[in-house]
Amino acid sequence: MAAEIDQAAVEEETAKRWLQAKRQTMPKGGWVCFHCEENLKTVGAAQDHFGGNPSALAACQIKIGEELGLLMALRKAELSAEEWQARALKAELQVDVLELRVDGQLSEIQSYQPFRACRSIREIFCLYDSVEGRAIAAEEELKTLKTEKANERT
Ligand SMILES: [Zn+2]
Repeated sequence: MAAEIDQAAVEEETAKRWLQAKRQTMPKGGWVCFHCEENLKTVGAAQDHFGGNPSALAACQIKIGEELGLLMALRKAELSAEEWQARALKAELQVDVLELRVDGQLSEIQSYQPFRACRSIREIFCLYDSVEGRAIAAEEELKTLKTEKANERT
């Protein structure tokens, strides 16, 4: 019978190697699998062997009969990837439609002569604030002139 393996030590070592592979900091001489002693000399090979996360089963630990489960997981991941790709394409299309809509609205706003030079809603707001400020000043000026005229009459 093989020497008893300390499961906690195996898990700790596997997690350490997984982290090294994830950070792409290859130890001198590459990674050596704790289970099968395979020497993995590239990051990709290490990631393939150790899996996508620390709790993943190392490739050499996948027993015959588990392939069906892995195949099902692969198919599920492929389906999920297709769904996300479809969502991304739909979102991309929606962004295109919204960009067209914004361009159309900006063109419509720029068709009004005073806003023709404006390139954004913010520029329109700034122009509006400037015009409003001038109108308030003109109203004050008018009020002052009316008061002066009224005072001249008396
Ligand atoms: Zn191994």
